[in-house]
Amino acid sequence: VKVAGKGHPRFFQPELCETIRSRRELEQSLVAALEQDQFLVVYQPRVDAMSGQLCSMEALVRWHHPQHGMVPPLEFIPAAEQCGLISEIGAWTIRTACAQIARWKRSGISFGSVAVNVSALEFRSHRLLDTLTSAMADFGVQPHELEIELTETVLMTDTDTSQVIVDRLHALGLPLAVDDFGTGYSSLAYLKRLHPAKIKIDRSFVRDLPDDSDDRVLVQAIVQLAAAMGIQVIAEGVETQAQRSFLHGIGCGLLQGYLISRPQEADGFERFVRQRAFERNAVLPEPIDA
Ligand code: C2E
Ligand code: CA
Ligand code: CA
Repeated sequence: VKVAGKGHPRFFQPELCETIRSRRELEQSLVAALEQDQFLVVYQPRVDAMSGQLCSMEALVRWHHPQHGMVPPLEFIPAAEQCGLISEIGAWTIRTACAQIARWKRSGISFGSVAVNVSALEFRSHRLLDTLTSAMADFGVQPHELEIELTETVLMTDTDTSQVIVDRLHALGLPLAVDDFGTGYSSLAYLKRLHPAKIKIDRSFVRDLPDDSDDRVLVQAIVQLAAAMGIQVIAEGVETQAQRSFLHGIGCGLLQGYLISRPQEADGFERFVRQRAFERNAVLPEPIDA
């Protein structure tokens, strides 16, 4: 009734009980997952479109469920938001990424920076800034080694609160990236107000490149707009050589997608870095605690 708005009577349906029961079960499993260390973080590299050199990576959370195997985030993040566990899971992800940054630094692995995804409810929770500050202090992470990814929908809702939080993130020196750019609100005013360091062109615009003429025009316009405002652009979901050539040709600076690498656990990522370094004939130090 609440969803349908006032004045819309609804009759009880037994299926509702089933929905509620399965949601409660999921909630309980999420609590157990936190207690039993069932989450893990995978990392997906972004490379310079011109040189192919690694610039940064995105940290993506996974749930290794004892019965169901690897559960993708889109299957549990919305539930975690609904039952109030998102801050807990988000804090765990941020601390795990910061601990990994510290390990890579000790091992002399050049990783650039690590971007963490922050969802709407996490963004608005007071805990986020405390979590970031303490994780950075505990693991000796510098602001330029971490990055925050937010969708434009998050930035556009309750703009005054968003502004305050973004200002605090700026004060911490943390770069902001706008995720799924172009899929939320069409207001471009926030680019001016919030000064993100990066925008990420959504996979839906990249998928049909270079054949789709609308996508070509849209992506080119986004790249030009960002360049004129001094904002870096990352294209997401790059899967083919043709997409890569087109994006490089129009001046898109950074590429991320299966063509370069799938998201992988830290050790797989280290192999990626070593392989790239080997290809450039660079000599990397041996890891101390890989
Ligand atoms: P996103 O931030 O847009 O993440 C990109 C998604 O695209 C990832 O899916 C990634 O695995 C996938 N991807 C990357 N390259 C390619 C490609 O070339 N082709 C295709 N088809 N897909 C590609 P994933 O890991 O399942 O994440 C889905 C969404 O879940 C993310 O979308 C993000 O919104 C959310 N998410 C992931 N990790 C976290 C987290 O730690 N915290 C929060 N709050 N949200 C997260
Ligand atoms: Ca993201
Ligand atoms: Ca995205």
